[in-house]
Amino acid sequence: MDFYDIIIVGGGAAGFFTAINAAENNPDLKILILERGKEVLTKVRVSGGGRCNVTHAEFIPAELVKKYPRGEKELRGPFHKFMTGDTIAWFGERGIELKTEEDGRMFPVTDSSHTIIDCFTRECKRLNIKVQTGHSLKKFKRPDDLWVLETNSGSFQARNLMLATGSNTKIWNLLEKMGHSIVPAVPSLFTFNIKDERIKDLAGIASDAEVKILNENLESSGPLLITHWGMSGPAILKLSAWGARELNELNYNFKIGVNWLPGYSEMEILEVLKEMKFSNSKQLVAKRAQLDLPKRLWQSNVSASKIKPDSKWADLNKEQLIQLSQQLTSAVFEIKGKSTFKEEFVTAGGIDLKEVDFKTFESKLHKNLYFAGEILDIDAITGGFNFQNAWTGGFLAAKAMS
Ligand SMILES: Cc1cc2nc3c(=O)[nH]c(=O)nc-3n(C[C@H](O)[C@H](O)[C@H](O)COP(=O)(O)OP(=O)(O)OC[C@H]3O[C@@H](n4cnc5c(N)ncnc54)[C@H](O)[C@@H]3O)c2cc1C
Repeated sequence: MDFYDIIIVGGGAAGFFTAINAAENNPDLKILILERGKEVLTKVRVSGGGRCNVTHAEFIPAELVKKYPRGEKELRGPFHKFMTGDTIAWFGERGIELKTEEDGRMFPVTDSSHTIIDCFTRECKRLNIKVQTGHSLKKFKRPDDLWVLETNSGSFQARNLMLATGSNTKIWNLLEKMGHSIVPAVPSLFTFNIKDERIKDLAGIASDAEVKILNENLESSGPLLITHWGMSGPAILKLSAWGARELNELNYNFKIGVNWLPGYSEMEILEVLKEMKFSNSKQLVAKRAQLDLPKRLWQSNVSASKIKPDSKWADLNKEQLIQLSQQLTSAVFEIKGKSTFKEEFVTAGGIDLKEVDFKTFESKLHKNLYFAGEILDIDAITGGFNFQNAWTGGFLAAKAMS
């Protein structure tokens, strides 16, 4: 049976980052990555729409943790040891420059995830890390000081075992049998399906908005994108992450309230509209967009308030002004189902965080067993934070193992 100092199961972001850092720390270690698929790093390849959103330009640990609906408390310590600045430096030392987009997302300057994959592959070769594909882990145990692993195509022994198998239920089931608690998995980072006349012809329009889920204590704000299927954009994706569990329990059927004029109340907007009635009295209401809204969004709000296309501001009665202020600040939409957000999605759920030592990412139940990445009950909103979790966990586990 082949012996290794470290075996890492899972050839994804967390697995590769762990292996490379461990080998860098101690070049004498014999390290093996076992991957069930034919290829490694498949999620990295498709990540960020093929551009790989490596991390996010947030440099304060206390702020960074706020992006993690699950893992906020636990990642605080680890981020003090390895976070965004370290990630940028790590890739920089390996010749990969990252750039920051306006919203804080960071990508390789090449705009290609292949840059990251090529870097990891090159590093594995340089550091003599063995990568074996087509090995799906089936069983593992630690009868004495060493871990014994069985895959569909072989058996291995290791002093240290890292499980970086993402959200594979089979591995969670095996861990449950070994005494670990697993928080049930539900999807996170999805868009909302809505069929509604008011947004039917508005696909492609984006506007800042405040969104809240009615009857739940969940709200967010930011750009909202209207799509052919409903709504997407940061404001919606954040809600899908923070409400992952609640929205699953509602079977993705619920109502949201949208304020297209963030920061303003219905009463405040009613006063503004009353003033417009006098100052714009001779103009057609629908003709010119007001309040900095995109024109078609303004027009859709006007028609939803039962204001005719040929109505002038002076024609509006009190009821119409009230309706318009309501549409603009508290429009209710019904959600019926969800769709996948193609640029990034994750699973909420995984190994219960109480059972992990976050100084080392080692299991508190089993010695020399480590975890990193999505296998843990940690996930973030969209923007590069999910990879940052994988890098941070991998880095600290590698330090402990080597
Ligand atoms: C389409 C998409 C785009 C994304 N884009 C971004 C982005 O731009 N930025 C960002 O921060 N996050 C992004 N994410 C999220 C990010 O990809 C994940 O958080 C991250 O990949 C988790 O890394 P991981 O190594 O824990 O798991 P994974 O990347 O899922 O890797 C796990 C690996 O383990 C292997 N494996 C599983 N079970 C076994 C087994 N029994 N034996 C052997 N091998 C096994 C799997 O085949 C897989 O290769 C995206 C996700 C998706 C789906």
